[in-house]
Amino acid sequence: MLLAPVHRGLWPRTAGPIGGSARWRRLLQTQAAAWHLDAAVAFDIDGVLVRGARTLDEGRRALRILGGDNRLGRRIPFVLLTNGGGVSEAAKAADLSRRLGVAISPQQVVLAHSPMQALAAQYASRHILVVGGAGRRCADIARAYGFGNVSTPDDVVAWRPAAWPFMDVPDGSGAGAGRDFARDPFHAVMVLHDSFNFGRDLQVATDVLRSRDATAGGAPTGRQSVPLYMSNSDLVFSNEYPRPRFGQGAFHVCLHAMWDALTGGAALEHTRFGKPFRVQYDFAERLLDRLALDAAPDTSVPQLRARRRIYAVGDNPAADIAGANGAGWTSVLVRTGVFAGGPGANDPAHPAAMVVDHVADAVEWIIDSERKRMGLA
Ligand SMILES: [Mg+2]
Repeated sequence: MLLAPVHRGLWPRTAGPIGGSARWRRLLQTQAAAWHLDAAVAFDIDGVLVRGARTLDEGRRALRILGGDNRLGRRIPFVLLTNGGGVSEAAKAADLSRRLGVAISPQQVVLAHSPMQALAAQYASRHILVVGGAGRRCADIARAYGFGNVSTPDDVVAWRPAAWPFMDVPDGSGAGAGRDFARDPFHAVMVLHDSFNFGRDLQVATDVLRSRDATAGGAPTGRQSVPLYMSNSDLVFSNEYPRPRFGQGAFHVCLHAMWDALTGGAALEHTRFGKPFRVQYDFAERLLDRLALDAAPDTSVPQLRARRRIYAVGDNPAADIAGANGAGWTSVLVRTGVFAGGPGANDPAHPAAMVVDHVADAVEWIIDSERKRMGLA
């Protein structure tokens, strides 16, 4: 069993959102617990800890249990692993810290686009088209990741409003105004988040991908000009609306259909990120390594990994459970989101190691499993 002393650095003092309350005192008490680093947990967010704008009580309870309020008397490191995005990891961590009543650091958040940071070295100064999200937020995220030369479909339409004549271009939109998109080639198209304007984004992305010189205004050829990266393949997602809504996967379907129709079936290659793809799990595992090394600086990554069991708690069999099973993690399926099976049911296509009602039950089961592994139960 690998234990580590308290390390407060992992839990930044967030006296602002929760300071002075009974909850804050409880947090300070749980900070006294040592770590159990033989286990780690990756939580999906929507349908597990929250449902849209509603924060689940079981989510708050689950994180309290992991914080040391359990029969091991020890804290277990965790990350949040979501196919959501369109915000920075820091903004997501701050929002969830406030809602869930525990301090969550940006180093515990894996968004769909987080692993795309690894591409920044390759594209540091190369011009990329960033698609998706509200306003310039995804362009700002890309810049923070280290992509130094970013334009958006908004910029292209600000340059030539006729590029997509079916919308008004507000004054001042498009930071790329002044840039000549007929002469400035792109080196990649990166879809970071759901498109907020399917038509415009399909048009501009297709223009660049088909263009002989990889510009937004170049003559088309039958071949793909530059690589295409996509952060999330979920066809639909759930929110407060009674029926699932089109997700980024729906944008991919449209883009591929248009490409097929325009080129007569030429190949459109793409690299995908997000759950259930392995790249997401490798990224999350490295964050868990870092959290554990912060807590126990004398240990090594191979030593940690040899002993550690990673549990993944999710509501979506096709994304959360398929991905976790593929990564060799122990999957736990909850009934508070996409999965609607009754008692005793499991997903036939992507069965989880355990199915429970909600995330607090999932964490109780994880604690029991760890006690068994340690010979305590
Ligand atoms: Mg979910």
